[in-house]
Amino acid sequence: MRDRPKVRDDLVALEGYHSPQVDVRVRLNTNEAPSGPPQAFKDALAAELSRVEWHRYPDRAATELREGIAALHNVPVDQVFVANGSNEVIQTLCLAYGGAGRSCALFEPTYLMHAQIASVAGTSVVLGQRAEDLSLDVDEVKRVLSRSSPSITFLCSPNNPTGMVEPPEAVKEVADLVPGLLVVDEAYGQFAEWSALELVDEDRPLVVTRTYSKTWSMAGARLGYLVAPSWLVAELEKVVLPYHLDVAKQIAGRVALRFVDEMNERVAALVAERERLVARLSTLPVTVWPSGANFVLFRPETKPGREVWQALLDRSILVRDTSGWPRLDGCLRVTIGTAEEDDAFLDALEEIL
Ligand code: PMP
Repeated sequence: MRDRPKVRDDLVALEGYHSPQVDVRVRLNTNEAPSGPPQAFKDALAAELSRVEWHRYPDRAATELREGIAALHNVPVDQVFVANGSNEVIQTLCLAYGGAGRSCALFEPTYLMHAQIASVAGTSVVLGQRAEDLSLDVDEVKRVLSRSSPSITFLCSPNNPTGMVEPPEAVKEVADLVPGLLVVDEAYGQFAEWSALELVDEDRPLVVTRTYSKTWSMAGARLGYLVAPSWLVAELEKVVLPYHLDVAKQIAGRVALRFVDEMNERVAALVAERERLVARLSTLPVTVWPSGANFVLFRPETKPGREVWQALLDRSILVRDTSGWPRLDGCLRVTIGTAEEDDAFLDALEEIL
């Protein structure tokens, strides 16, 4: 038999991304919105799609979509870059600013895909640690930056999986310190009280990434973007594949922007529901971390996290098992769902504990 071609040496040990998609009654494991976008959005989208010239390539620069996003955030259109989910936005950043001979820094526990995407792009990963309470430790950031001089430094606000918001002063301080780019992943930014978007300007090497997957109830569309200095967006446009954003997605993203009020109402409702869930969770024997996102990290104190996760699954309730993640011994993460879903989760948890 012929030898199989060998994968790149640095990919041999890579495990890939695992988040089980199990068929359950209550699915609270992937931080999706609990319901789809408004019917009026679906109708408007269907009408626009019926007029698409499918034999033509889409607008390569996604101009109208980027104009819409730029207007939403009150920034110039050349400060906006769009791609297939914020994961692809991050990948494009790593391809342009990471790569062989370069490193990125991140502070655990944080979103696992930052390290994964950077590694696949050939960027070495330098791991720093968050403080004991899992907040950002600026002294540790300083140590890591001065030791390894990374081309990219990742923060995540609200941070996945802790839910904690990086304080504005800390982000500002880190933005002044970084030797390369500072990327603030705001996949859950709309659920928090402040955004690093206010810090973006042409003179600061700061990038804020966002997604349609959560607030906009559009995880199925795979659409994300960043707001950054225009000189950086110009570099990303050189790296990304031609016509990477299909015509249907460009339209979906643009049409969604007509429903900003509805989306803001949903965010407000989810934030209120989060507070209700946290209040009930706090009456149980669990440690709860403060969340500015649409999910909550908690640790059962009377039983091992893994056992609780399995007991929830036995009741057809799926949360994220983060108990094996770095620094998160025994912890689980639950996405905010509908009031009925959250009550089913809370009732089951109460029974288990
Ligand atoms: N960043 C963070 C922190 C996330 O949690 C996620 C989704 N799990 C993403 C980015 C990726 O989102 P998407 O690719 O769906 O935009």
